[in-house]
Amino acid sequence: MAQVGIELKNVTKEFPARGGEAPVRAVDDVSLQIYEGEFFALLGPSGCGKTTTLRMIAGFEEPTSGEILIRGKAVQGVPPFHRPVNTVFQDYALFPHMTVLQNVMFGLEMDGVRKEEAKSRAVEALDMVRLNQLDRKPRQLSGGQQQRVALARALVKHPAVLLLDEPLGALDLKLRKAMQYELMSMQSELGITFVYVTHDQEEALTMCDRIAVMDHGQALQVGTPSEIYETPHSRFVADFIGETNFIAGILISTNGKAASIKIDEKNVIEATLDDINTSVGGEVTVAIRPEKITLIPEGGSLADAPGDIEREPHKTAISGQIVFANYIGTDTRYIVRIGEKTEVVVRFQNFGARFETMYKPGQQVMVYWANSNARVLVQ
Ligand code: ATP
Repeated sequence: MAQVGIELKNVTKEFPARGGEAPVRAVDDVSLQIYEGEFFALLGPSGCGKTTTLRMIAGFEEPTSGEILIRGKAVQGVPPFHRPVNTVFQDYALFPHMTVLQNVMFGLEMDGVRKEEAKSRAVEALDMVRLNQLDRKPRQLSGGQQQRVALARALVKHPAVLLLDEPLGALDLKLRKAMQYELMSMQSELGITFVYVTHDQEEALTMCDRIAVMDHGQALQVGTPSEIYETPHSRFVADFIGETNFIAGILISTNGKAASIKIDEKNVIEATLDDINTSVGGEVTVAIRPEKITLIPEGGSLADAPGDIEREPHKTAISGQIVFANYIGTDTRYIVRIGEKTEVVVRFQNFGARFETMYKPGQQVMVYWANSNARVLVQ
């Protein structure tokens, strides 16, 4: 079992009221555990409380209530420089008048490390981030290079935990992708715990071992990228991570986790119920990802359908009509009407001759999905 490196227990942060405004509850009763050596993301939209959570772990803010433990020790009142963590800020916060080398050596010298040793450790850290322009000033560096200096400055102190606040936010897409890869390899080489704040769901899904999805100060769901993507517990999480269809209907019957949902007067679909206590007769929302839906031409054979849908024991089959088809290179994205009033997005990968058999608007199709891929949301 992995060791817990950082633990938040019912942590709340309220900023006091200012100028007649109401107090802000930036973080609301968050409890989570981050394991040693883990690459952990705090993910959510602007203002959801990610940065405040990170700043409390770093020691720049104290919780209003609740407790933070780092390596089993409560850190209340411990100043940032006495915590075994280091922070990389979005704006890098480099000293403009110092060279790259001086920027990286600075923290060590402040800690009383001898100049010679500070220098050799700084060179080593800069080597780790593959930067050799040691005598340049920050303004003579590109955004990506400045980012590397900020990383080296944090790594040089050998922290047990590195806190990163949208560290790639200022970089263009190509550089961002390259730095993502470098951060991932650096993290696995060094075995340092990374806590990574981002609002970019793709970044969190590709880079991190586990993700806490935050909204309005709360950690709504914590899990691996595939858990968060495949089994979102709430509408917010399903919507924030990737594209999702939300189908409204009335829950008309259940059998264990199997649920039947009426979407209009004539049509019933099936889905999986996470909360078996959901009451029958109420309005529910079914979430299903566009790539989990399969189409075949009306009158066609299921044996020709892509994927494993033919062998799937529990599946929904419903007739539909193509409303819109949009070829987007690797995929084709369809809007398909099922039943009388429901539209769903379906995505098909374009491989082989698939492009030739693209469905056209107006065409009748059969729409299938495995019921395990359609989930009745409880929130
Ligand atoms: P972003 O991605 O935009 O940085 P975030 O998820 O990191 O957002 P926080 O910076 O943690 O969000 O802010 C959460 C909430 O707390 C926001 O409503 C913000 O305005 C408020 N807040 C943050 N810091 C303070 C402060 N020092 N005083 C008052 N309110 C604050």
